[in-house]
Parts: sequence; C-alpha cells; structure tokens
Amino acid sequence: MQPNSCILAREACRVQVFCVTDTTTNNLNTTMYRTKTCGELRLANAGETVTLAGWVQRTRKMGGMTFVDMRDRYGITQVVVEEGSPLFEQANKLGREWVVQITGTVGERSSKNKNLPTGDIEIVATELRVLNESVTPPFTIEDQSDGGDDLRMRYRYLDLRRTPVRRNLELRHKMTMEVRRYLDSLGFLEIETPMLIGSTPEGARDFVVPSRMNPGQFYALPQSPQTLKQLLMVSGMDRYFQIVKCFRDEDLRADRQPEFTQIDCEMSFVTQEDILQTFEGMAKHLFRELRGIELEGAFPRMTWADAMKYYGSDKPDTRFGMKFVELKDVFAQAPGFPVFDEARYIGGICAKGQATYTRKQIDQLTDFVKRPQIGAKGLVYARVNEDGTVKSSVDKFYSPDLLASLKEAMQAEPGDLILILCGDDAMKTRKQLCELRLEMGARMGLRDKNKFSLLWVIDFPMFEWSEEEGRLMATHHPFTHPKDEDIPLLDTDPAAVRADAYDMVCNGVEVGGGSIRIHDPELQDKMFRILGFTEERAQEQFGFLMNAFKYGAPPHGGLAYGLDRWVSLLAGLDSIRDCIAFPKNNSGRDVMLDAPAALEQKQLDELYLKTDVPQA
Ligand code: ASP
Repeated sequence: MQPNSCILAREACRVQVFCVTDTTTNNLNTTMYRTKTCGELRLANAGETVTLAGWVQRTRKMGGMTFVDMRDRYGITQVVVEEGSPLFEQANKLGREWVVQITGTVGERSSKNKNLPTGDIEIVATELRVLNESVTPPFTIEDQSDGGDDLRMRYRYLDLRRTPVRRNLELRHKMTMEVRRYLDSLGFLEIETPMLIGSTPEGARDFVVPSRMNPGQFYALPQSPQTLKQLLMVSGMDRYFQIVKCFRDEDLRADRQPEFTQIDCEMSFVTQEDILQTFEGMAKHLFRELRGIELEGAFPRMTWADAMKYYGSDKPDTRFGMKFVELKDVFAQAPGFPVFDEARYIGGICAKGQATYTRKQIDQLTDFVKRPQIGAKGLVYARVNEDGTVKSSVDKFYSPDLLASLKEAMQAEPGDLILILCGDDAMKTRKQLCELRLEMGARMGLRDKNKFSLLWVIDFPMFEWSEEEGRLMATHHPFTHPKDEDIPLLDTDPAAVRADAYDMVCNGVEVGGGSIRIHDPELQDKMFRILGFTEERAQEQFGFLMNAFKYGAPPHGGLAYGLDRWVSLLAGLDSIRDCIAFPKNNSGRDVMLDAPAALEQKQLDELYLKTDVPQA
C-alpha cells in the first residue's frame, strides 16, 4: 500500500480559473437593459458605446471626478463621471448597492488596476439611470467584508453578492454539470425519488412531516434514497443516479448540515471492483475538469483494519506519513513504568525534525490530548539527540538500551520527536493518537490544501457494537453484503464479519461511501435477525423491499458522494456552509428565514398536533 502515491503538489492553482462559466463574452441575449456585463470589457473595446447594469459597489470622489465601481455577477467595471457632466450631481448621490444602468464610452484608464480583469478600461458615462435605491447594507459587500458570520448569514442574499462566496456556488454548479456529463456518458439515468417517505428508525433520526389527510400519521424525509434506489435496480433501471437532498436530524457536530446533498448512485450486475473503478473515474474526471489536476495511477486501497491500526481513523489523512507504531512489545522487554506495564495498548508517532520542541510546546500538546473531547490521560515524549541518544519523559524507568530499541522501533533519527499514548482500550487510544497525529501534521504544515491524497478504505466491519442500544448495529446499513468468505461467521462470530463496503477518502475527509447490497431475501432476513429485528418489525419497516426481492433482484451495489464536501474540498474551504447558498447554523437554524418556528394554533389543529414543550 502506497497511501501517498497519488499526492499531487500543485503550484497555487486558483480555483476560479477552472470553474467560472464563460464571463468574458456577453451570451445574455438581452439588449433592453444592457449590452455588456461588468466583467467583459477590455482595452480592445476602447471607443465602443456600451450599456451596463448592476450594483454600485462604491463611489469615490477625486479631483473633480466621481468614480463608480459597478458590480454584477461577472465582475466590476469602473465608471467615471466628470465634474462638467450633467450626470455629476446624480452620480454623487449614488449609494452603496443602488441598482443602476449606465451608458458610456469605453476608454483607456490612466491608472490601471492589475488586479481586475477590466482594470485597463473605464466607462465615461453619458447616461445614468437609477433602477432602484438601496438602504445602507449591514456590512460591506467586498471580497473582505467587515460583517461577522452571524450578520452575513442573516443577510445571506447580500453575502452572496460577494465574489468569493459567489465563486463557490459557480464551482458547485460546474461540479453538478460535470457529474451529469460523466454519468450520462456511462449510461446512468437520473431518476427522482420521493421526499415524503416512511420513517426508518435504523440509522440517524428522521425529520418527520405530519400528514393532514391521514391524521396522526407522519411521513419522514429521506436520510438517503437507499431503499428506493435498490428498488429501481429491481425495476431493471440498471444504472441510476440522482443529485438529491438528504435529511438527518442529528445533533450537529462541526461542519454538518441537517440537510445536505448527495450524488447518489446505484448499478446492477456489478462487483465491488466495477464500482470502485467507475467512481474513481468520476473523481479523476472532477479533479481534471474543475481543478486542472491529473490524479495519476490507481487510488491506493487500505483495509479498514489497517486504517485503524496505522492512522486510528477510517478516514486517514494520507497527505503525510507519521504512521502509528505499536510499542507494547518494546516496553514489555523491561517493565518498570507502571502506566505502560498496565496499558493494553501503547502507540507512538515520530514527528520528523521536531526534537527542538520546548517544554512549553510539549505541555501544550499534553493539554491538547487531555482535552475532554480527546480524553487521553497523559503524553510521553522522547527526543532523539543529535548524537543519537534518547532523552525522554520516562528516562528514570528505562535503560538507555531500551530507549535505543524504542528509537529503532520508531525508525527515529537524530532530531526527531517521538510522541506516545497508551490506554486500556486499543481503539480509543488509537483515536486519541489520531488527533495528536493530525495536530502535529497541521503544526508541521503537512496538511496543505493544495495537495490531494485520495484512497479507498475497504473491508469495513459489517457490524459495530452499540453501547447505547446494547446490540450490534450495521456499520454501513442493513442492506450491505458481507464478504463471501465471511458469511459462515454470521452464525458463529458476527462481530468479526467484514462487509463489501467502501469509502472514498480525500485528505482525511470521507467524500463518498457505499457497498455491494444483499439481493438474496434469505440472507437479508438473517441480517435483520442479527440486528435484533423481530420478523414483524422487519416486515413492518422493510417488507416492501423484502417483497420486491422475491421478484428477481439483480446483484447490485452503489455509492453516494457528498456534494457539499466535494465542493468545499475542491474550493479549499474550511466549512461546507460556504458552498451552500442558504445554510443552517450550528444549532440547525436558518437565521435568515428564522426557521424552525412555532406553528399557528390553526395549523396545529388541522394536523391534530399538540406540543408539550416544557417551559425553559
Ligand atoms: N445510502 C448510503 C449513504 O447515504 C450510501 C450508499 O450505500 O450508497 O451513506
């Protein structure tokens, strides 16, 4: 496995170069309001008479002239009105965000603006018409706004006028166009599935919608069109996709939205290999078309077990190494430090060239791993000195020989810093070590937004134990096919069963995931039983699917890509919110629409609903 083999370092290739729809020519086919856009005029247009329409970004008065920066979706053009002009007084009254129409002659600017594509020219205005006035906007609508997050979300329609935000939506548009182009070329059909479906309590919580016509009954909004796309395979649609809104009523963790968009796909008569190749092809297509990046070679594949062992995560960030080394055997050679002697798992990472870390920096790292969200008890470190000797925080418990074995096990060199965590629960400790590795990666500048490292994580476990429910739950979903060779274990050791399930991971983010599905009703039945469903409950919830499977279900499988995550990754955004036109905040609220909100009594009555919210 060469997890870093497809890392591509690119010189800062600016996203907008590849993503913007053609802004340089006027394809608008309208002449009533404008003949050109605010983004297209160049020196070659000098002498032409043009009409533009757009918003006043700002006005400046300088030496007997008034300059108006006019903005539309395509760019900004400078308009100049001279003191002697009959328009001068009117131009001086223009306020920010007024909507205007200006006719004038294109001229060469005396002081050019190299940062603007239209920076070589200006329009000398001969006509000026105010199409609409604006009150003073609550924040400046420029690339760098003075508005805080909350204010900009409340006035999101104004925020969207800002170029960086608008560009994200342009990239999103381009991405959906390219997805459709790619999948259409492979014979996929885009088919819509309903938004009002039945509730399936397995998985996350559903958003529910009361039905007025069926009193006391509720629809649920789909968490994904999973069962419907499987039914489409039973229908013989063969290759389906849909760019579809999905809804999950989860407590919002960082960078989750209660409604999000998936590129949902399903294929018939395919093996896992077919699916991986099809969607690896799509990833390459998107990187090529949207970022101009050629992802060379096949994506590495890492089993879930290895991902957990070496990275403590099922979505490893493979832009950098710093893989975990298990150290239990090394320290067992010479017991002496009770914390290590009692720990079931000891793991270390080697931070290259970081032996210069000061005591204070180490203390910061210790505080970092001890934060309640991470929960480690402490951090052990060892510096490898220039002469090859090792200086560690546990020197008094171990001989120089043992510390030399540690250095060897970690393949550490002079100048390196070894960081070690231990604990009773290997999985928990690995997750803590994962956080430490990511933190070190960030501190060392190894998580570069312009590098992309993609891989498949495969062979996920079929089930995971839920403490809360006291039973096995499906890791992916109950329709996932177990690996053929593990099917006998379903009866003897279900927790050890691996699934034909896969995730595509990029830079530590899961950008897609799916599985081969069960198409045999008996096996599906067995799966429901292992998951603790009674026959009645399985019938009640999934009877429609089980029934359909009796009529000749083809072998099938699929995957869903997270559109929001893909766009934010390709645009180098910190949050998926930035590529969603009207996102919700961290409490799931739309602060612009002020939703959710209470219903009027009349509406509640119509739906036979009573709310019983305890007074705060
Ligand atoms: N429906 C799955 C999900 O939403 C994806 C899939 O298996 O196709 O994660």
